[in-house]
Amino acid sequence: MTARFALARAAGATAAGLSRLTGRGGGTTIGGRVTLLVDPNALAQAATGRELALVSGTNGKTTTRTFLVAALSTRGAVVSNAGGANLLTGITAALTTDRTSKVGVLEVDEPFLPRVASAVRPRAVVLLNLSRDQLDRYAEVRRLAGIWRDALDGSETTVIANADDPLVAWAASAATSVVWVGAGQGWTYDSTSCPACGDILRRDRAGGWRSEQCGLARPPLDWQVEEGAIVDPRGNRHLVELSLPGQVNVGNAALAVAAANAVWDVDVEIALAAIAAIPSVEGRYLETTYRGRPVRLLLAKNPAGWSETLRMSRPDVPVVVAVNARAADGRDPSWLWDVPFEGLRGRHAIAAGERSRDVAVRLRYAGVDHVRVDDAAAALAAAHGSGPVEILANYTAFQTYRKVLRDA
Ligand SMILES: [Zn+2]
Repeated sequence: MTARFALARAAGATAAGLSRLTGRGGGTTIGGRVTLLVDPNALAQAATGRELALVSGTNGKTTTRTFLVAALSTRGAVVSNAGGANLLTGITAALTTDRTSKVGVLEVDEPFLPRVASAVRPRAVVLLNLSRDQLDRYAEVRRLAGIWRDALDGSETTVIANADDPLVAWAASAATSVVWVGAGQGWTYDSTSCPACGDILRRDRAGGWRSEQCGLARPPLDWQVEEGAIVDPRGNRHLVELSLPGQVNVGNAALAVAAANAVWDVDVEIALAAIAAIPSVEGRYLETTYRGRPVRLLLAKNPAGWSETLRMSRPDVPVVVAVNARAADGRDPSWLWDVPFEGLRGRHAIAAGERSRDVAVRLRYAGVDHVRVDDAAAALAAAHGSGPVEILANYTAFQTYRKVLRDA
C-alpha cells in the first residue's frame, strides 16, 4: 500500500464522517470523491489482493449483485456497493471502507465498466442486458456495447454473459473466457439489428437469434433458464424458488449462480438456497398495506423494465400506473407507446403521476378501462373494491408512492 493511498483513504473517511455529522447525507459519495482526489489510483489500490466480480447492464444490476453477494457469502465476508452507488466514487468508497473482505461484488453503471475493470482487474464480469435507459439515450445502446467489447477484447477475466441479448453476446464474445447463460430477453426492441453488421436479426421461438449476413448468432448455452428452473452445464435441473416475483429474476439468479459456480466453485444448490432467502431488494419492490388493503409497489425505470413489470403484474387486481417525467425519469414520455400496456386489458386501471394525461391517452389506445387521478393518495382511493392494489411507477413516481405508503 502506498503512502498516498493511505492518506487518500484517511481523507475520504474523514470527509464521509463530517458529511454524516453535518447531516448532508450518508457520506459515501463524498468520501469516495475525496479519496479519488487525493489518490487517482485509489480504486486500483483498494482492489489489490481481492477477488472481485463486476455486475453491469441496464436492468437488474442491484438484484443480481444482491444475489451474487448472497451466493458468495456462503463462503465468507463479501464487500459490495449497496445503495445504488455504482459510479467510480461509490465503488471506491465501498472498497476503501471495508478493509478485510477478500471477495467483492460491485455493480457498475454501464458506461463506467471499462474504467472500473481496468482499475480493479476483476475475476469475473457479469453482463445482464443492454437497452435504452430513457428515450433520450436510445443512440447510446449500440455505443455502450462497443465500449464493453473494446474493454473485454483479449481480457482474461471470466465473463458471465446473457447470451439471449445480442448486444451483450457481441460485446462478451471478444473475451477469451465466457460462460454463456440463456437468461432470457423480454425486451427485444433495442436489439432488432445485428450489432456487428447492421443486418436485421432473425429470431426463433426458443430465444435464439442470428444474423444471416455476418453469421453472428446466439452462442451455445452453458446454463439455461427453463420455466422456474435453471439447467447447469451438466444438464442437471435446479428448481428456483425466489421471494422476488418475475421470470426476469430467475434469469438474474441464473447469472449469479453461474458466476458463483464457475468462478468460485460454489455449489449450485447452496447458492440457490442463499438467494431464495433474500426477502426483497432495496428500492425495487415494496409490499405493504394502505388503509387495510394489501399494496404492491413495483418500480419500472425504462421501457424494458416496464415490459418486465407488466409481465410480473398480478391479473385481476386494480392497477395504478404512475408516470413522472422529471430529469431522473427522462423528460420525454413518448416511450409509453413502446410499452405493451395492452396487457392490462380487463383490469381496472388508474392513470396517475405528473404525466397522468399521457398515461390516460396510452391506456385508452390500449383498450384499458381507466380513470385519471392526479394526487397519489387519491389514486389509491380510486382503485375499485377493497382487495389488493398494485402500483407500477417510474423512478420519481416510485419515490412519491413509497413516501405516501410509509406515511399512511
Ligand atoms: Zn451481422
